[in-house]
Amino acid sequence: MTQTYLMIKPEAVRASVWPDILQIVLRNRFRVRRLEMRRMSRDVAQRFYAEHEGKGFFSDLIEYITSGDVIAVRLEAEDAVPRLRQLVGATNPAQATPGTIRAMYGTSLQENAVHASDSDASAERELGIIFPG
Ligand code: ADP
Ligand code: MG
Repeated sequence: MTQTYLMIKPEAVRASVWPDILQIVLRNRFRVRRLEMRRMSRDVAQRFYAEHEGKGFFSDLIEYITSGDVIAVRLEAEDAVPRLRQLVGATNPAQATPGTIRAMYGTSLQENAVHASDSDASAERELGIIFPG
């Protein structure tokens, strides 16, 4: 079993589609190990997205991700990281494979419904920031 980090982003929480997203994940044999609804602080958001610092969309991304509650989820499954990324789909919902979470619930390149860790190392880093201790 391996772990990954899923975050349901603010617009999907505001639109009340987060239960539908969680149901898709659960139906695909992921187990929820920890789940919390909370608002990210700017400090946590900047550390979480540190790899994008300096890019044109960074400040918009921080504004957006701190604009409301997110659902933070620690997941466990066989091949958790690649399987969740596949279920989530491409970054841009307009290019995401039909049936993926972003294709169904994403509304723009920025507001793409969810975050999913992109490697085991990222999952460990992100879970350490979001759920320390
Ligand atoms: P992913 O979330 O698929 O791993 P990235 O790590 O490249 O994608 O980007 C992190 C997040 O930043 C994306 O999920 C999206 O919300 C936002 N983002 C990425 N690229 C852009 C862009 N060109 N313009 C606006 N927002 C972006
Ligand atoms: Mg990424």
